[in-house]
Amino acid sequence: MKLGLFGGSFDPVHLGHLLVAQSAYEDLDLTRLFFIPAAQSPFKPDRRPTPAPLRLQMLRLALAGWSHCEVDELEVRRGGVSYTIDTIRDYSGRFAGAELVYLIGADHVAKLPQWRAAEELARRVEFVVIPRPGQAPVAFPPPFRGRTLTGFPLAVSSSQVRQRVRAGRPITELVPSAVAETIRNNRLYL
Ligand code: ATP
Repeated sequence: MKLGLFGGSFDPVHLGHLLVAQSAYEDLDLTRLFFIPAAQSPFKPDRRPTPAPLRLQMLRLALAGWSHCEVDELEVRRGGVSYTIDTIRDYSGRFAGAELVYLIGADHVAKLPQWRAAEELARRVEFVVIPRPGQAPVAFPPPFRGRTLTGFPLAVSSSQVRQRVRAGRPITELVPSAVAETIRNNRLYL
């Protein structure tokens, strides 16, 4: 069994995230792919995320009909700052013997040694990097190992979506329509 894990704030989920998942699923021969929204990202300590139920709702709407992808609430339920190593230990227990592959955008590679329990993390999972426009390719800092996919590079970010909403600009080409509707109905990011 080969499991893909994709963590992030998903505030909101956008088409860049979905293309990461699509590319990983196609290229890595994954059995299952989990989107794992963080309660609070360790890399964004000053930003209070949108309440988790709304981020989860947007993820579920975005993934409706994607039978190979699921949303895992474990970091939201755990609460506090979400450290990937805690999640990986949980998966190792739940899916003993499974191969774990952790998906990251190219912007995270250089920072991997700063992740909590970096040595253990590097031992337990293979990292798969998806290119992100504007990010030069970076080699894996030891002891991390992994590979880079070709992906479908798309220059969209959640912060860009939030900024556009605040500025009254359309986001219809950046997020699935059901996500745009949820943002509108709940007056998010204004
Ligand atoms: P923000 O703009 O708020 O920092 P973000 O768009 O980077 O958010 P996150 O939810 O923080 O979104 O990202 C989760 C994961 O998805 C990270 O590994 C990030 O690098 C990756 N990612 C996000 N957008 C893209 C993209 N367009 N291409 C490739 N990877 C992406």
